[in-house]
Amino acid sequence: MEPGWVWLCGAGPGDPGLLTLHALNALRQADVVVYDALVSPEILDWAMNAELVYAGKRGGKPSAKQQDISLKLVELAKAGKRVLRLKGGDPFVFGRGGEEAQTLLAHGVNFRIVPGISAGIGGLAYAGIPVTHRDVNQSVTFVTGHDHTGQAPGSLNWRALAEGAQVLVIYMGMKHARHIANELMAAGRPGDTPAAVVCNATTPDQQVLETTLAHLADDIEASDLQPPAILCIGHNVKMREALDWQALAEGAAPRSLDPLGVKAQGA
Ligand code: SAH
Repeated sequence: MEPGWVWLCGAGPGDPGLLTLHALNALRQADVVVYDALVSPEILDWAMNAELVYAGKRGGKPSAKQQDISLKLVELAKAGKRVLRLKGGDPFVFGRGGEEAQTLLAHGVNFRIVPGISAGIGGLAYAGIPVTHRDVNQSVTFVTGHDHTGQAPGSLNWRALAEGAQVLVIYMGMKHARHIANELMAAGRPGDTPAAVVCNATTPDQQVLETTLAHLADDIEASDLQPPAILCIGHNVKMREALDWQALAEGAAPRSLDPLGVKAQGA
């Protein structure tokens, strides 16, 4: 890392082993690490010589304003620091990395982007759910469950999603899960479509709920599941019956060897 540069890095979904080598190098070289709430403490332990600046929510206080964070990065870079901006998952996936990079650009600060493993892909993999499967989907749709006002996004075309999105992967969807499920079903998505909720994915606290679109909201309410969580809606969720590799590692037998029932077709 060069002094005066900002590295905008993804930290992955939680498991420190999912960090990239670029991010690890940055942690070791940075003078300052500005990190978000979803970055694991074990990852920050690698920042041996850096000052740590927290930029997320804590103790019920509202998160630092986005513009304040961006300007803090500018200030640190202009002071000649090697700045690591570390964000959960991938910085360019529902992470406002683009906005921060724009502010850096506007202030003439050099920056580099280091992608990370996004929760909507890596988190599902840790639950044994392949985000694509040849027999299920030839596309994936990533959706945010709320917009900048905290409401379910008004800009989404639920009918198009219900009809056209083969697999939906929903970030920040817990709060509005009922609304989302109702919109999709009202637009024709069958209520028996498999659905899963993966909380604290890739961490020791990972919890997975398997359900259907019709029961999604009730089952979340009846559980003690809390954000952060990824919702996945689609038949790929069924693959967990075979591929729950964490359960397999603990000695459990697979619930099914062919959850999609497609082997007969020569898959
Ligand atoms: N840039 C991040 C997403 C930030 S938005 C990424 O690429 O993963 C925050 C949302 O990400 C959370 O509300 C949740 O939906 C999801 N998320 C992040 N980390 C998660 C984790 N460990 N387990 C489940 N969901 C996670």
